Amino acid sequence: MNITPVLSPNFTQGRRTYRPEAIVIHVMDGTLKGTDSWFCSALSQVSAHYGIGKNGEVHQYVDEIDTAWHAGRIHDPTWPLIKKTSDGMYINPNYYTIGVEHEGNEQSEWTDAMYATSAELIRKMCQRWSIPADRLHIIGHHEIYSLKNCPGFKVDMDKLIALVNGSTQHVNGQISKTEKFGKVTTLTRLNLRAGPGKVYKITNMVNAGIQLAYDGFTMQGETVNGNGKWFYTEEGNWFWSGGVK
Ligand SMILES: [Zn+2]
Repeated sequence: MNITPVLSPNFTQGRRTYRPEAIVIHVMDGTLKGTDSWFCSALSQVSAHYGIGKNGEVHQYVDEIDTAWHAGRIHDPTWPLIKKTSDGMYINPNYYTIGVEHEGNEQSEWTDAMYATSAELIRKMCQRWSIPADRLHIIGHHEIYSLKNCPGFKVDMDKLIALVNGSTQHVNGQISKTEKFGKVTTLTRLNLRAGPGKVYKITNMVNAGIQLAYDGFTMQGETVNGNGKWFYTEEGNWFWSGGVK
């Protein structure tokens, strides 16, 4: 992926004590070019980490280790993972999110190139920061600031997340599962994960030679070495079938 740096002066160095835990999807309400000049002007006092054009072009305005100014205002938030201090004050979401802008406005259709590029970029962020690639951690701006409709009415968040997970089968977050009980033995040290793919959070780790019971499997997990079969356990963990016999 080709990422062009277009550095913005509008950011806070570092992230205080926080780290990226979620990704906020925005729509520019304009063009990539217009957003470049808006974010590069110190007068605007706004930025995001990335901007993606309709043709799949990616511009980076702020480093992921720094705090961009994209979702600092809060109004009637619906996002369940929004953080508060112990005395009930909201913590600025900019400190623990990555902001990604998309070319167009609230009413414009997303191009295939924009979906594909956004998904690839988000997948890398999820891997880099161990962010689960799900609807709780990939959110629309309006879920923090309800006075805006950002990222608009045309983006299909479930489709975007399905693409992040490397599959067109996960549409609407549904994974087709086959219930079938059984037992397998780990061939190697194996990660248990929150979903059927390496983008999902590691929930546990087991050594080689351990017997694992499963409740069923999907053939629609992330394909690893040509194999997309993942088992799931009674506890809701997933593990790749290539790591067991
Ligand atoms: Zn926004």
